[in-house]
Amino acid sequence: MRRKLVVGNWKMVGTLARNKVLLEGVLAGVRDLRNADCAVCVPFPYLAQAQSLLQGSSIGWGAQNLSQHAEGAYTGEVCAGMLVDFGCKYAIVGHSERRNLYQESDEVVAAKFDTALKAGLQPILCVGETLAEREAGVTDEVVARQLDAVLNRAGVKALAKAVVAYEPVWAIGTGKTASPDQAQAVHAFIRQRVAKLDGQVAQGLCILYGGSVKAANAVELFSMPDIDGGLIGGASLIAEDFVAICRAGQK
Ligand code: PEP
Repeated sequence: MRRKLVVGNWKMVGTLARNKVLLEGVLAGVRDLRNADCAVCVPFPYLAQAQSLLQGSSIGWGAQNLSQHAEGAYTGEVCAGMLVDFGCKYAIVGHSERRNLYQESDEVVAAKFDTALKAGLQPILCVGETLAEREAGVTDEVVARQLDAVLNRAGVKALAKAVVAYEPVWAIGTGKTASPDQAQAVHAFIRQRVAKLDGQVAQGLCILYGGSVKAANAVELFSMPDIDGGLIGGASLIAEDFVAICRAGQK
């Protein structure tokens, strides 16, 4: 049976003082959590703070992006080795905000995925359709294209050490959540697509749902057979809410 995972994506939000209160609240709230994993993906400057406060706890931490390059003249970029230096377990790749606001192509996302994996990080690959794509009936096509870019570059076995997050763009930060059935249908599609290449990898693959998950809808979403937890934006910034979502993972 797959273990549930709940990951917070703080996006570009935080201060040293605010993060400390948030992380201490999450630490206290999940101390007795046994049957689910949780983690936070913080802005780069706060990785050292996450490492110092979370080391030795059951909460993992990671980054929200990384460079596809290993090192060199890439001003302003952060490479996988640097994330490893700060104890990161996870790196989100292909978040829709990066795909849309920074024009990250499927190929760039696949290269980032590969670089993260080779450095020993667990990439969290985000895939998902826009509202226009859903309305045009091409959700599966879009998700397949985004997934295949990674499968073609890294191979199906790479997914044994990675996480996939299905995040419909229309549900991110909008308060509109995909219904459990809508999300389940895409999760099942992702798992089936991977199963065509490797049944065992597909069976073990952790597929998170992301898009306006809250304490009030987490239990229902997480009870669907192919939903293995959540990638949480807004609600991960409030300790009480994030803890409640983590707890929904063990129900
Ligand atoms: C996200 O940014 O990955 C996300 C799911 O955001 P929210 O939970 O705020 O919709």
